[in-house]
Parts: sequence; C-alpha cells; structure tokens
Amino acid sequence: MLSNSSLALPLEKGGKAAEHYVGRFAPSPTGPLHFGSLITAVASYCDARAHQGQWVVRIEDTDIPRIFPGSEEHILRCIDAFQFEPDTEIIFQKDRLEIYEQVIAHLHAQGLVYACQCTRKMLGSNHIYQGTCRNLGLPLQDQAIRIKVDAQNICFTDRLQGTHYSNLQQDLGDFVLKRRDGIINYQLAVVVDDYLQGMTHVVRGADLLDNTERQIWLGQVLGYPRLEYMHLPLAMNDQGQKLSKQNMAQALDLSQAAPLLQQALQALHQPAVDLDTPRIMLQQAIAQWDIQHIPHGTALPQIYQ
Ligand code: GLU
Repeated sequence: MLSNSSLALPLEKGGKAAEHYVGRFAPSPTGPLHFGSLITAVASYCDARAHQGQWVVRIEDTDIPRIFPGSEEHILRCIDAFQFEPDTEIIFQKDRLEIYEQVIAHLHAQGLVYACQCTRKMLGSNHIYQGTCRNLGLPLQDQAIRIKVDAQNICFTDRLQGTHYSNLQQDLGDFVLKRRDGIINYQLAVVVDDYLQGMTHVVRGADLLDNTERQIWLGQVLGYPRLEYMHLPLAMNDQGQKLSKQNMAQALDLSQAAPLLQQALQALHQPAVDLDTPRIMLQQAIAQWDIQHIPHGTALPQIYQ
C-alpha cells in the first residue's frame, strides 16, 4: 500500500474528524458548467449531506490542452452562486502532478507499470491493447505509461445502475496512466485524489460508468479502500446526445440559480422545493433527499438544452 503520510491532504476543517461519508464534485474545466453538471453537483451534495457527510470540490485539470479558457472561473462562480458549501478548499489537479508522478514511480518499482512506445497508428482500430511493450523494459521517459491488468472479473454494484463487471484483460488490456506527451490520465489522478481526500462515495454521471472497473483495479493495486458508486442518468438534448460543451450545451446562467436548482431537483425526481435562496433550497432538498425517486437507466426521460 502506498504510504499516505507524505502525500496526505488535510481533509478535516478545524480538526474535526472525518465522517464516514465523504463525497465530491469533480468537474473538468473543458467548458462552462451546464445543466448536466448542475445535476451532478446537486446530487453529490444532497447525497453527502443527507448522510451527514462531507463534500469537496476538485477541479480535474490535468489535461491542459483540453482546458477551455475561463471555465475554471465559471466553475468557482457556480459553486458560489448555487451556495454550495465545500468542506475543504477547492483543489486543482494541475497543482498535484508531482504526487501522481510519485505514484507512477511507486508502481514502477513494483513492476506494475511499463513504458509503451506504440503509436496511435500502430494500435490502429483495435481498442484492446495486446501488451506489445509489456516485456520490453523500455525507459519511462517520453513514453506512454501503462498499468498491467489481469484476467479477473472486476465487479461492483452501483447504487442506481445495479451490478457491472469487466474483465479488463479481455475488454481493454493494459491501460494508460500517463500519455506520451506527459499528461497524467484522468484514471490515475481520480483514483489517487479520491484516496488522498478520504473519499468514500462517488456520485457522477453515467457516462463515466465504464471507467469504474479501471478505477477499482487501480485502487486495488494501490491497496486503497473500495468506494461506493452512484452513476446518475444523464441529461440529454433533443438530438439524443448528452449535454456537453461539444454539443453546445448552454452555460449555466448564474442569475437564474434558484429556478435552475428547482429544475435540477425535478430532473432527479425529488420532491418539490420552494423558490428561495439556493442555500435554503438545498437545505430543503437535503431533508427530502431520496435516491429511490431518481429515474432508472443511464438517461433522463426529459429533454434539456
Ligand atoms: N472530471 C470528470 C468529468 O468532468 C468527472 C470525474 C469523476 O467524477 O470521477 O467528467
């Protein structure tokens, strides 16, 4: 197990011991937050608070070329406008690259990762990596770094989506933790930070469901405790696509925080809350929070913009 002593972040505020629910909202600043992001923020916040848990915000900005100018500021303004109250300071993954490098070095010392020189062209359309570079012992510098997987089934029961499993060797092959251009992959950063921030519960969009087995595998290899997962149905547009920057989803209008909050709770089929300040509306939503009402499946039935 990776020693946590030097890498630990202070999680508790004012020396208060951590509750056994710690949740998070972890947006990537690849565009301004939209209604789909708000649903995730609201659900993760209400679920954490309804369990008397803590809730933190983490900006997942390791993929620097994909950062959309101004979107980090928009995320911070949204947290304020919707009156979410994170329990710790917001962390930015791009400030933590050394930590991820240390984890890679730790895995390398144990023979669990290796450098891969295969180009995209060499990999072609085959999405299952065949382990071409597994035993070549290439130096790590300027190469992609892959983690070895084995043939076991990784299985988990999602609180909304039921049981999922994957045999990573058959379905995917050894996967990338760091790209050749030096960018730390989301899979590594998310697992390391969930651990270092003491996370117990992950609430996020169902578009990330397929990443979960990889993250469980990585956590298992690092000796981290397992998390509970809840993958929310996604808000879709009239073209049947999930709301995203690529699909021109509208940025959240911060002057409309209260009605947008009401709509997000409606989308999650939660009992109605009265229009008020976002703080009071969230308090009401937390008191009424019930995941049994959330629509089943990976897409919400209604259409959004
Ligand atoms: N940063 C990811 C995203 O914005 C979410 C990561 C997670 O919740 O695990 O899609």
